[in-house]
Amino acid sequence: MWNLDNSYARLPDSLHQAQPPVPVPAPRLLLLNQPLAEALGLSVAELDSAEGVAVLAGNALPAGSQPLAQAYAGHQFGHFTLLGDGRAVLLGEQLAQDGQRYDIQLKGSGMTPFSRRGDGRSALGPMLREYIISEALHGLGIPCTRSLAVVASGDTVLRPLPQPGAVLTRVAASHVRVGTFEYAIRRGGAELVRALADWCIERHYPHCRAADNPWLALLQAVVAGQAALIARWMQVGFIHGVMNTDNMSIAGESIDFGPCAFMDAFNRRQVFSSIDEQGRYAWVNQPGIGQWNLTRLAEALLPLLDPSQEVAIELAQQALADYARLYQQHWLDGMAAKLGLFEAQPEDTALIEDWLDLLQAQQADFTNSFRALGGDPAALAELPPQPLFDSAEFAAWQQRWQQRRSQQAQSLAESSALMNRHNPQLIARNHQVERALQAAERDDLQPLLGLLEQLRQPYASRPGCAPWCQLPLPHEQVQQTFC
Ligand code: AMP
Ligand code: MG
Ligand code: MG
Repeated sequence: MWNLDNSYARLPDSLHQAQPPVPVPAPRLLLLNQPLAEALGLSVAELDSAEGVAVLAGNALPAGSQPLAQAYAGHQFGHFTLLGDGRAVLLGEQLAQDGQRYDIQLKGSGMTPFSRRGDGRSALGPMLREYIISEALHGLGIPCTRSLAVVASGDTVLRPLPQPGAVLTRVAASHVRVGTFEYAIRRGGAELVRALADWCIERHYPHCRAADNPWLALLQAVVAGQAALIARWMQVGFIHGVMNTDNMSIAGESIDFGPCAFMDAFNRRQVFSSIDEQGRYAWVNQPGIGQWNLTRLAEALLPLLDPSQEVAIELAQQALADYARLYQQHWLDGMAAKLGLFEAQPEDTALIEDWLDLLQAQQADFTNSFRALGGDPAALAELPPQPLFDSAEFAAWQQRWQQRRSQQAQSLAESSALMNRHNPQLIARNHQVERALQAAERDDLQPLLGLLEQLRQPYASRPGCAPWCQLPLPHEQVQQTFC
């Protein structure tokens, strides 16, 4: 069943603190991700047993576990802070049948040496939200940490009102963050950064080992992963919410998207997070923040890039310029595909931006408008009566678009099929997530399970999915999300 090792525990001591999870009074398994359990080589029946649930609650350790809290730092809303796992422990790395290692982390597992003033716990709502969003992103084909289980703890947490507590079991390629490197350079200098970097190469980017400059290759690999990842978020209207450097994974997975959301009505400056007062992490700012965060990573890697600081800076700057170039290419390719264009041309940028201008001017629904444009009658029916498709501006744009589409070798039917593969019919709409969370707090998990079932195949046009494409009624509109 469990096949754990913890290579992270063998890294220098300053990167972690041994820390078992703190037991909870009355664990009750609420959600178990069966396909994920099977992929990890874990028995669903055993996880569902009293012993299995005890492990998922942090009340018992699985065989081979070497639990620890990871040390890290980070720039939170631009300000440097020392952090670390304040409410999580890494139980170990599950060696799966695919030959990969997967971090098994309990989140909400009690206080650690890094808890500062926090209680080390998590409320049920945000843990269920993380479960839903990670499944939604995974269903969309976007790299993301996964959720194996949610266990109600039987405890109450104050947020600031009393709420039920919960423990989430999170599965990740690893939990090393940009902020882990920021911590390493300050705590142990180049030597500690080298140990961490070599571990990351071994774990995530073994091809870098053979490069002339393995640490530059590592930086380039992380840059490439983030450029691809953030472009994918942008293309489904996903707003991470808290893109601090401690919430950016070295492995290129979406992670720690606390107050996140998929937007309904398109607005480039959309923000949902209750704590993002300046809009630093608005949808439109995400690519630039990605580069800002990667610059913090490059700074930490600088002493490894070259003995000459001047040369090292030059190499780092090239890698960061690559980010901008790679991001632009992913954005253009992905958005062109959303418009049914097989091979993006630089001129398509204007077509894309003008379409987005139309959506923004009409406050049109991002997901359904793209889907309707591709000819999906269900999506069209779910768009509220609105002038978008009737306007003269749209007619003019549509003419340019049709002309561009007809210049392709592929048929219009093939072009529409391409659109449907890139324009999801289903996203985790805020009001549906809210409805599911509210029902779950009343002990009714059916709406949440129904939503998860839909999110598994978000691109397929399925009978019965129409209710899930519905836009929120005015009173259902979610303005803010919390973590
Ligand atoms: P997050 O917003 O989840 O990315 O967390 C930012 C930092 O705050 C991380 O170092 C967390 O471990 C810590 N943290 C968040 N909530 C708590 C809590 N309830 N108790 C202790 N630490 C926490
Ligand atoms: Mg240690
Ligand atoms: Mg975090």
